[in-house]
Amino acid sequence: MTDAAVAKAQAAHAGLEAPRTIVVIGGGQAAGWVVKTLRREGFDGRLVMIADEVHLPYERPPLSKAVLAGEADIETVRLVKPDDFDALNVEAWQPDSATAIDRAQRIVRTQSGREVQYDRLVIATGGAARRLPDSLVQTSHIAYLRTLDEAVALGERLRASKRVLVVGGGWIGLEVAATARKLGVEATVVEGAPRLCARSLPPLVSRFLLDLHRANGVDVRLKASLTKLEDHPNDANRIRATFADGSTLDADFAVAGIGLTPHTALAEAAGVKVDDGVVVDHFGATDDPRIFACGDVANHPSAWLKRRVRLESWANAQNQAISVAKALLGNFEPYADIPWFWSDQYDVNLQILGDIPADAQLAVRGDLAGKRATLFHLEDDAIRGVIAINTPRELKLSRKWMNQGRTIDLATLTDASTALA
Ligand code: NAP
Repeated sequence: MTDAAVAKAQAAHAGLEAPRTIVVIGGGQAAGWVVKTLRREGFDGRLVMIADEVHLPYERPPLSKAVLAGEADIETVRLVKPDDFDALNVEAWQPDSATAIDRAQRIVRTQSGREVQYDRLVIATGGAARRLPDSLVQTSHIAYLRTLDEAVALGERLRASKRVLVVGGGWIGLEVAATARKLGVEATVVEGAPRLCARSLPPLVSRFLLDLHRANGVDVRLKASLTKLEDHPNDANRIRATFADGSTLDADFAVAGIGLTPHTALAEAAGVKVDDGVVVDHFGATDDPRIFACGDVANHPSAWLKRRVRLESWANAQNQAISVAKALLGNFEPYADIPWFWSDQYDVNLQILGDIPADAQLAVRGDLAGKRATLFHLEDDAIRGVIAINTPRELKLSRKWMNQGRTIDLATLTDASTALA
């Protein structure tokens, strides 16, 4: 990122007046960080947040773990305590949903018939859990997990069940399966692909997760193509799943974690550029200088990956939102974080930082079988990506080295008997 990019962004926004009304569409983590940051940065104008959520902004990582297990609730997952939120002086229009953005008049209209004129607008609409096709699902005993209320309901159901069928061997599916096992519930995970988390992990780590889940008693079925999900013929309170090879599987209910569809319809209808998410620049600005986007819905140029990307992660929702809030006030600090993601399953904390191509030759430090290892993807002796399995300190150090562009000796890196320093 160059000073030229900052100068270009400043020039594009130079003709605009300072904002007096900022409207944020969305009520998740990204929206929460935008309003928090705006006030912290001194914005004292009108702030309207429109969200279809009933709750004030909360963080999602505990939903598939502590909330599901009944160990956390809204009080634990809140982004801002209610009193602190009141102090932000945000008009929270919720539950309501923005139905149109009129860019000519700079007005947002909502489902309930309200409207607000904006000087700047932030689209932080996130996305929805992808649904299995109706043609395949002939039962009501199917759950999805995206919101807090869904997590609470799913947790209650899980704790009252003996066996759950998890459709999708991605992050939701694996974390739900791990929580189910922790609760003593039998779990089967069916994944259409030949390996777990195939889009985000190299084969070595997919294999590690497969072994981990099987060792914890999960029945994992790969290359499993679900053709029907219906009420059990002898018990309408249970389900029967049928697969393409003719086999069947019975369970109390099913949970599907088969990906996320970004909520881009509003932006698209308003003529804002959309291409796998709302297209933004390094500062979160769209092709309309008054409109910004951040979080799961935004497709941004990643300085580290050297390509455009739409990231569905906690860290991205927070930090891109902070960058956008500053840019709204004319302080253009490029969002250039190295992509970072983590998951907790059983006794394993797995973190992914940077770029890990599926075919990367990974240098391994430590012992995968012993559930303590760090895997590095190097380019020209510099770290491009890291996967840390129960080695958070090594990930932290790697992040520092990656930001410094430091070169590393491969032998030192892979010798677990020598401390990295
Ligand atoms: P995901 O990680 O994209 O995984 C979805 C998985 O389901 C993929 O492996 C996909 O395979 C598979 N799949 C799709 N259709 C299927 C079908 N009909 N039958 C069987 N498998 C199927 O998405 P997710 O797990 O639903 O998670 C949703 C979002 O929440 C993601 O953004 C995720 O990153 C986030 N999340 C994050 C965390 C965390 O930070 N720890 C935890 C949970 C969720 P293909 O790739 O082949 O389609």
